[in-house]
Amino acid sequence: MSAALPSSPRVLARVDAGAIAHNLGVLRHWIGGAPGRAPRIWATVKADAYGHGLCHVLPGLAQADGLAVLNLSEALACRAAGWRGPLLVYGGLQDAAEVERLTLDDLHLVISHAAQLDWLRARDLVHTYAPSLWLRFAGDLNLSGFDAAEYAPAHARAQALVALGHARAVHHMNHYAAAEDEQGVAQADAVFRRVIADLPGLVSTSNSAALARHRLHAGATDWVRPGLALYGASPLAGFTGAGLGLRPAMSLHSRLVATRQVPAGTSLGYRGAYVSEGEMRVGMVSCGYADGYPRQAQTGTPVLIDGVRTRVVGRVSMDMMAVDLGPVPHAQPGAEVLLWGPALPVEEVAAAAGTIAADLLTGLTGRVPVAPAVPSQAAASSRARDGANSRNSVVATR
Ligand SMILES: *Cc1c(COP(=O)(O)O)cnc(C)c1O
Repeated sequence: MSAALPSSPRVLARVDAGAIAHNLGVLRHWIGGAPGRAPRIWATVKADAYGHGLCHVLPGLAQADGLAVLNLSEALACRAAGWRGPLLVYGGLQDAAEVERLTLDDLHLVISHAAQLDWLRARDLVHTYAPSLWLRFAGDLNLSGFDAAEYAPAHARAQALVALGHARAVHHMNHYAAAEDEQGVAQADAVFRRVIADLPGLVSTSNSAALARHRLHAGATDWVRPGLALYGASPLAGFTGAGLGLRPAMSLHSRLVATRQVPAGTSLGYRGAYVSEGEMRVGMVSCGYADGYPRQAQTGTPVLIDGVRTRVVGRVSMDMMAVDLGPVPHAQPGAEVLLWGPALPVEEVAAAAGTIAADLLTGLTGRVPVAPAVPSQAAASSRARDGANSRNSVVATR
């Protein structure tokens, strides 16, 4: 057995908590509201903070009013990471046994089907942790929740749980199917408001797209639930995060591992998906779909080499991909590669791969380590430089 030397990561995601804090401020500004009456914000950190790593984003979320996650395990992880405030669990209870795990203060469960109410009712009453309940209206998304006919009866059953001490309070939640569209929420909101009109409780609506596109609607609720925009990605097609005043929190870095000069007519990569038109210099980047880079990325997908914009050529393979070094003729093995980040919008990469930013951000695999951004990294990554020797180089970390 030989002692392994610490080696630099092939691919590294850097996360800037300062960008998260900035974005939270931007979202508050969007929804406005009178002091003391502005909506509160459930900062959505499901899927390990959209792939950014909970521990890396929490320092940027000190001003959030609550955190929203998918399941109880994620809620427990938030507490373990030091979050003391309210926690909202979108998935509510997964099964009857989970009532035994409701040992968190200030826990809020989304209730989206009747069995979840049965499980709470069957719970041993000798307990101190009664969750608040948010009834989910099926709405126009219609994937889960109570429809218009089921809602009031479910609300009555939930209120009965409050009377018995099984729950603390009952509130209302809706999630729009088409908030990115100009006409995407008016109708859906009107239906929701009619259903809850005579029922007491706070109201939560509005993901990132609703905040970006329907600020008045969002501002008129008690709690909003942004996710994607907090990380600096645009929830609206045709915009980048920066175009909306947001700061991308993640940058994905790799390195050039080899360069080659190839003659005209050379086919590159699996199935010869790209054939060089003239003589050209190509570089190999040590990143592939097993890292979470999208395999669907086409020739032409943008990438920065030493801060200079160029393109992917041919098919992305499992561990590497080829890039055109035409615009960066002096790039050498070791050169810095930026796959997305403040200087290269993830939305552009997503579009070139036929998908959306959230898919890429949450899709990094366990093979990619995540580290905090280094100071001035954003500035560094946007300038052309001989990255291999830079103090801010990806590989300069231990
Ligand atoms: C994921 C999620 C959100 C956040 O959505 P974004 O589009 O990322 O802002 C809000 N509400 C619910 C119910 C969700 O599942």
